[in-house]
Amino acid sequence: MIKTVGIIGAGQMGCGIAHVSAAAGYKVQLYDIAADRIEAGLATINGNLARQVSSGKMSDEDRKRALSLIKGSGDINDLAQADLVIEAVTEDETVKRKIYGQVCPVMRPDAILATNTSSLSITRLASATDRPERFMGIHFMNPVPVMKLVELVRGIATEEETFKAAKEFVAHLDKTVTVAEDFPAFIVNRILLPMINEAIYTLYEGVGTVDAIDTAMKLGANHPMGPLQLADFIGLDTCLSIMQVLHDGLADSKYRPCPLLVKYVEAGWLGRKSGRGFYDYRGEVPVPTR
Ligand code: NAD
Repeated sequence: MIKTVGIIGAGQMGCGIAHVSAAAGYKVQLYDIAADRIEAGLATINGNLARQVSSGKMSDEDRKRALSLIKGSGDINDLAQADLVIEAVTEDETVKRKIYGQVCPVMRPDAILATNTSSLSITRLASATDRPERFMGIHFMNPVPVMKLVELVRGIATEEETFKAAKEFVAHLDKTVTVAEDFPAFIVNRILLPMINEAIYTLYEGVGTVDAIDTAMKLGANHPMGPLQLADFIGLDTCLSIMQVLHDGLADSKYRPCPLLVKYVEAGWLGRKSGRGFYDYRGEVPVPTR
């Protein structure tokens, strides 16, 4: 039975997962290598919970209770108590593998380790752990408190009990599960990211401006957010690494990452989280950068 959830990475996703887990009554241990990320993350969670209170989705008492359930820490040993550890660090296989090497010896042998990866092979990541049977993908969508879907992905060795425990955990968070096979980028991103990449090609080839492309897809295809705005929201580094995984994993040139996406990432223009991407977020309102 899962009571304590450990989270590795206090970025956009790790904080969102901490938020919904605590709101559902789980104890949460939030770990990050960077102390300032933990501090900023706890402040974001507090702000997002407060917003749920002001919109009438949560009582102030529940907000306080949820906050009191989250403990931030820069010491990986604090994950020893967790029944389930969810890794949500940067989408980089080398970084993730290194963390598994650090966290596995700390974790209880019977505890489950899950990854929130958007695209990497669960089976391959599992092989870097001491527990492939108790390892799987629990893929939340961004922003976690708002999005209803969670993709569950089993690796070749994932045991049924692990899958069941993950399914129960997600149901307890009041989210809907969809099951995907372990292929590059699973379901949502396999479909979504090539669309975003195509929007970036449309910009790159001068077919339209940032504003024209986003307006076209919002009003012409009824998308709630334009694809370039969405790319900024996801993080352009994450978008690029998902396209690279699709390109490498499926060996089809249709997944070639747009050179303009590469350029933005090389510039450190990673979208909302770095203040600038296809839009500049440093002023009062986002301004297109092209
Ligand atoms: P992010 O850049 O906001 O956060 C990553 C965090 O990982 C940072 O706080 C960083 O300090 C931390 N980190 C890096 N190396 C670490 C280490 N060695 N030990 C501990 N912490 C470390 O990224 P994000 O958007 O939250 O993405 C995290 C994961 O979630 C990725 O695998 C990504 O693919 C996946 N994901 C992202 C989205 C999205 O829309 N952004 C959606 C679903 C899944």
